[in-house]
Amino acid sequence: MGRIYNFSAGPAVLPEEVLQEAADEMLDYRGCGMSVMEMSHRSKVYETIIKEAEADLREIMNIPDNYKVLFLQGGASQQFAMIPMNLMKNRKAGYIVTGQWAKKAFQEAKIYGEAIELASSADKTFSYIPDCSDLDIPEDCDYVYICENNTIYGTKFKPPPDTKGHTLVADVSSCFLSEPVDVTKYGVIYGGVQKNIGPAGVVIVIIREDLITEDTLPGTPTMLKYKIHADNNSLYNTPPAYGIYICGKVFKWIKKMGGLTAMKERNEKKAKILYDFLDESKMFKGTVVKKDRSLMNVPFVTGDAELDAKFVAEAKAAGFENLKGHRTVGGMRASIYNAMPIEGVEKLVEFMRKFEKENAE
Ligand SMILES: *Cc1c(COP(=O)(O)O)cnc(C)c1O
Repeated sequence: MGRIYNFSAGPAVLPEEVLQEAADEMLDYRGCGMSVMEMSHRSKVYETIIKEAEADLREIMNIPDNYKVLFLQGGASQQFAMIPMNLMKNRKAGYIVTGQWAKKAFQEAKIYGEAIELASSADKTFSYIPDCSDLDIPEDCDYVYICENNTIYGTKFKPPPDTKGHTLVADVSSCFLSEPVDVTKYGVIYGGVQKNIGPAGVVIVIIREDLITEDTLPGTPTMLKYKIHADNNSLYNTPPAYGIYICGKVFKWIKKMGGLTAMKERNEKKAKILYDFLDESKMFKGTVVKKDRSLMNVPFVTGDAELDAKFVAEAKAAGFENLKGHRTVGGMRASIYNAMPIEGVEKLVEFMRKFEKENAE
């Protein structure tokens, strides 16, 4: 059996060339006689791998010199705690709750200090991004937190909120490297890589240097201090070495494809194919307010749970995997990350059209 079209929200599709190259290098990495999985993270060869990965990411995102790039472990979820432990100097932070991931981060922050809900879209099942143009933010808030792309609900902040001078912290797990970004607008940009960049087990944190201090909350474990990882260039302990190597290959793939501007064009083109169909279909409907639609995660429904289930089953049999919506939302969701080819979306829409015809009353 060949490769199918994988619409999983994460872990998710990776570029086939990257996987092929990793396969070719599996037993003998460029004449080392061993796999990257087997080599010391302190070896010269590995040092080149991690340094190149960082340099390529800096180039792709145009990351200024006063930001550190950290390759850490613990997934995006560990950052829910690490952020308040390191940044809550006044023990106060504002959260914009636009979905489950933002809510989890908000709840975690409450363990460490006063977490304030600045805005929320819970009233309409997180199907939109609340107006964040004039938020009421207490002066002594240490930061304003957002989940920039809501993986489960399919919404995206465009543009980021007006934080009125407060540090902006963003979870970009599901929109990482999907379009150009102005890093200088953020204090911290972080994301688990398993949505758009690489294998689960790596989380990338891009953090402005002045936010990296010794002054963490009492009891913060050494491993959860940004400073220890920054001072040691992500090699304080053994990093997720193989995962970082794959991320590095994906960065090179993005460069080859033309960088983030080209990624954005490609992603817009793919998303348009699907959204245009949802807007014209009599059976399938998108669930998100149009202006807040994500380019990466596209939830949709038929309005009939049985028909949804039939669609998911028949799509699977036809080679379109992981289209079932999140367990808390139901319906369907197509995640169309960077590595999803345009043909994957075209063929999915073709299949949806056919399904609609066959199942129309
Ligand atoms: C998947 C996801 C997470 C959780 O990531 P883990 O690495 O499993 O902790 C957090 N935030 C967003 C936006 C996600 O999509």
